[in-house]
Amino acid sequence: ASGDRAVLRTDGVTKRFGGLTAVDDVDIEIHRGEIVGLIGPNGAGKSTLFNCITGTLTPDEGRVYLQGEDVTDWPEHKIARAGLGRMFQETRIFGDMTVRKNLLLAAQEGGADVSSLMRRPDSSLLARTDELLDYVDLGGLAETRAGRMSFGQQKLLEFAMELMSEPEILLMDEPAGGINPSMLGNLIEYIRNANEEQESTIFLIEHNMDFVMDIADRIYVLAHGERIANGTPEEIQNDQRVLDAYLGR
Ligand code: ADP
Ligand code: MG
Repeated sequence: ASGDRAVLRTDGVTKRFGGLTAVDDVDIEIHRGEIVGLIGPNGAGKSTLFNCITGTLTPDEGRVYLQGEDVTDWPEHKIARAGLGRMFQETRIFGDMTVRKNLLLAAQEGGADVSSLMRRPDSSLLARTDELLDYVDLGGLAETRAGRMSFGQQKLLEFAMELMSEPEILLMDEPAGGINPSMLGNLIEYIRNANEEQESTIFLIEHNMDFVMDIADRIYVLAHGERIANGTPEEIQNDQRVLDAYLGR
């Protein structure tokens, strides 16, 4: 385990649903500071692979390593606590709470006294909420009830919430989904900022090709559960197997 440079590594991960092999012998390796995309046609196995990594599902074969540690059989909450963050397509914020309280709650993974934290949050935590809100341009909305913001703003809040716990790696399932096209450029900038300034490592599923080609350092492509390509956005765009997979050949 020690000496393993990868933040996240899967080794031969396979997941079957009855007779269907949804994820078929997939190897991936993600290093600190990378932004890595995961693409592939509908039903390719992207979400299932994510679920195997996060512990939502247990692979039938293969292993998952987080920071060199074999977490394959760990429960989901333990994997999360070990530094794996996940952002879902639907937001999971508390609409009745202020933006800031949502962020403070997100920092409380692992059972500190939430009510006392809310009454008297420590100053370093408050400073961190301010810093993250500024990152995503929500600084002016700290005391607004989160449910009153737009869907796009709620997604940005959720992104900030995930960063609050300083994950070793953040998995994002279609971050651009449902976001107003005029905000996509901002989202790219925020994710890049987090990547550069917070040294976040990010693994994201995305259907929006312009978005993923713009933001990713490297991309894995799945088709019918198999990993068919791994390369830079430029390499992926010129890979005949990838083009064929999207054309259904
Ligand atoms: P993607 O996210 O790439 O669109 P999924 O991982 O959601 O693909 O699905 C991969 C394949 O596995 C699909 O054929 C899907 O129908 C099937 N599948 C996913 N989850 C389940 C499940 N819980 N039970 C049975 N089949 C599933
Ligand atoms: Mg999916």
